Amino acid sequence: MSTLVFLEHHGNELLKGSLGVLSKAATLGDDDVSGVVIGSGVRALADEAGKFGAARVYVADDARLESPLPQPRVDVVAQLVRDAGVATILFANSVLAADIAAALAARLEAGLNWDLTDAAREDGKLVGKRPALQDSVYVDVGWTSEPRIALFRTGSFDPVASGGTAEVEDVRVELEDFSSTARMVEQAHEESEGPSIEDADVVVAGGRGLGGPENFPLVEELAKALGGAVGATRAVVDAGWYPYPTQVGQTGKTVSPKLYIACGISGAIQHKVGMQASGVIVAINKDPNAPIFEFADLGVVGDVHQVVPKLTELVNRRRGS
Ligand SMILES: Cc1cc2nc3c(=O)[nH]c(=O)nc-3n(C[C@H](O)[C@H](O)[C@H](O)COP(=O)(O)OP(=O)(O)OC[C@H]3O[C@@H](n4cnc5c(N)ncnc54)[C@H](O)[C@@H]3O)c2cc1C
Repeated sequence: MSTLVFLEHHGNELLKGSLGVLSKAATLGDDDVSGVVIGSGVRALADEAGKFGAARVYVADDARLESPLPQPRVDVVAQLVRDAGVATILFANSVLAADIAAALAARLEAGLNWDLTDAAREDGKLVGKRPALQDSVYVDVGWTSEPRIALFRTGSFDPVASGGTAEVEDVRVELEDFSSTARMVEQAHEESEGPSIEDADVVVAGGRGLGGPENFPLVEELAKALGGAVGATRAVVDAGWYPYPTQVGQTGKTVSPKLYIACGISGAIQHKVGMQASGVIVAINKDPNAPIFEFADLGVVGDVHQVVPKLTELVNRRRGS
C-alpha cells in the first residue's frame, strides 16, 4: 500500500496544510508514505518533508513548472501513479489542490472524496470522514477502486515533526501537449502580515455589528495581539468593508482554527457552516438572542466597541507588550 501526499508550497515553504496531511498519512499504517514537490527551484523543500513523516520525496523540478498551474502537475502526479504504483493520493485543500485532484480523478478514472476532516484504517480499508448535513453529522466514505484520491478540509491536521529524513528521488518531467496551453499571465500576492486565515490557530472575525469599515482595526488589533488572522462575514465584504478573501462561510472559506472570535456577527447558517468546526467559539454581540449564542462556547453580551478593545488590552497586558 503506498500513499502519496501532494506537497504544496509557497515561496520557500511547504504549506502547513500539506504537512498536516503528510503527518496524518504517516499514522495510517501504510508501508510506504511519500510526498511530491513540484515546481522550479524546489529541491531544498524535499528535506523538510522528511521531518514530517515522508519516507521518500519525489521532486519534479523544472522551469516549465514554475507557474502554479494545475495541468502540468496532473501530468507529474499521474505519471508517478503509473510508475511508482501509488494506491492513494492525498491533498490538503486549496484552489490549486482542488483543481489538480479533480483533474487527476478524471484523468485516472479514480474516485475522489473531498471535504474530508479525518481518515482511518478500518479492517485494513481506508475510510474517510466527511461532515455532512451542515456539519451536524460525520459520514464514513470509501473508495471502490484504486487509485483513491482524497482532499482534506483546511486545518484538519496539525503538522507533527517526527524528525525523520526522506530519500529524495528526482522525477523526469514529461508534459502532455494539452497541459502546456494555459499560460500564467500575472500573479498578484496579497500583502499581509501574520498567518493566513486558513493556517491561523486564531481567527478574529468582524460582522456588520462593527458599524463600518473604519472600525475593522478593532478586530485587526485583537487578531494581532493573539497572533491570529482576520475573518469577515459576507455582509461585510459585500458592503466593501473588508476584502473578499477574508469571507468565512458557505460561499467563502471554511476555517477550523483552535479559537474563533466572532465580533458583531449574527451567526446566520451560511456563516456558521464555515466556522463551526473551530475548537472554541467566542461570540461578542449586543443582542442576547443572536443565533450565534446557540452554538458559541463562550458568549459576551455587549457592544463590540467596548468589549473588543478591552479584550485586546488584556491580551497585550498578559503577553507583556
Ligand atoms: C446563498 C447565500 C450564501 C451566503 N454565504 C455567506 C457566507 O459565505 N458567509 C457569510 O458570512 N454570510 C453568507 N451569507 C449571508 C448570511 O445569510 C448573513 O446575511 C450574513 O452572514 C450576516 O452577516 P453579519 O452577521 O455580519 O450581519 P448581521 O446579520 O446584520 O448581524 C450583525 C450582528 O451584529 C450585532 N451588533 C450590532 N451592533 C453591535 C454592537 N455595537 N456590538 C455588538 N454586536 C452588535 C447584531 O445584534 C447582529 O447580530 C449568504 C447568504 C446567502 C443567501
